[in-house]
Amino acid sequence: MTTHTHGYAAHAAGSALAPFSFERRDPGAKDVAIDILFCGVCHSDLHTARGEWPGTMYPCVPGHEIVGKVTAVGSDVTKFAVGDIAGVGCMVGSCGHCASCDGGEEQYCETTGFVGTYNGPDPVMGGHTLGGYSDHIVVDEGFVLKVTHDEGDLAAVAPLLCAGITTYSPLRHWNVGPGQKVAIVGLGGLGHMGVKIAAAMGAEVHVISTSAGKRDDAIQLGAAGLIVSRDADQMAEHAGTFDFILNTVAAPHDLDALLTLLKRDGTMTLVGVPAEPHPSPSVGLLVFGRKAIAGSLIGGISETQEMLDFCKQHGLTADIEMIRMDEIETAYERMVKSDVRYRFVIDMATMTA
Ligand code: NAP
Ligand code: ZN
Repeated sequence: MTTHTHGYAAHAAGSALAPFSFERRDPGAKDVAIDILFCGVCHSDLHTARGEWPGTMYPCVPGHEIVGKVTAVGSDVTKFAVGDIAGVGCMVGSCGHCASCDGGEEQYCETTGFVGTYNGPDPVMGGHTLGGYSDHIVVDEGFVLKVTHDEGDLAAVAPLLCAGITTYSPLRHWNVGPGQKVAIVGLGGLGHMGVKIAAAMGAEVHVISTSAGKRDDAIQLGAAGLIVSRDADQMAEHAGTFDFILNTVAAPHDLDALLTLLKRDGTMTLVGVPAEPHPSPSVGLLVFGRKAIAGSLIGGISETQEMLDFCKQHGLTADIEMIRMDEIETAYERMVKSDVRYRFVIDMATMTA
């Protein structure tokens, strides 16, 4: 009992994504079947499809910023009905009974690890999970989110499912709010959502960027200003002034230059996961000022729902550039060049059979 599904897959680290057909399970008792309307394009998709991170299983169908329409529900499903608009993010399963899962932090599942929407072990079909660059998906209702934004906003809601929650979760965890000066490093998909969300939380937000040309956009997104990271004078002006830094950069870079911007007791949280390590940060910079470097992984399912509701309440969606499915490789090339304003979203109506 399966449903024929059309997607786009990479077949090897060096091969371009190309049309690929495969079977999805039909919904079990707790499953929700979704026709995918839009899927955002995350830099993690590129890292995975191109084998930049270890462990990619091919064929690889990326995509974990999914919004679609529910087409069927299993007999035990209570939260969704046919016709609902639903979202799926980076996870489609976890063990469900460890301390992290019990605490609503399924992304930190301590026994099996979370099941990724793609490139995870598929517990039902066997093999590995295949993601949202496809026209249809079936997901346990515990990992499906309710989307209440207006129908016209749905393409711009898709990126909230990864870029939104990955920035919202650390901003909440480190209690960002009014009276604080916060930096967002890297103005890409994650970074632009970080600016919007931190500003909506009431913080004074500054973007730290390699791209001076993004200054007007940064201000439009809600930042007080943009600091060019390669300009030592601009960086020096802000030394010792930030309460919190959220670093979204997808490439190795000098962390010390950023640590000098933190106040005493400040934290820089890394969410970017470059393929190669950063140059080692200076211990002295951490010790003199009791500063911290931390990391953060997406966010739990209940927190993802909270983030969607927060964004709805504050009128926040992503700034997107819609692409056709067959434009994905061009989108990846532009992403590598930091030329994304500020999230590509695939219109799944352009998926050809
Ligand atoms: P993106 O749209 O490509 O944005 C990354 C930004 O980083 C670029 O736009 C650029 O901004 C900056 N940048 C790129 N190369 C740089 C360099 N060499 N030095 C300094 N800055 C550079 O990527 P994304 O989708 O936001 O993802 C960002 C990273 O987060 C990726 O590594 C991704 O895998 C990771 N990620 C992590 C999680 C998690 O749970 N922790 C979730 C999703 C994604 P400027 O032009 O402003 O400099
Ligand atoms: Zn992502």
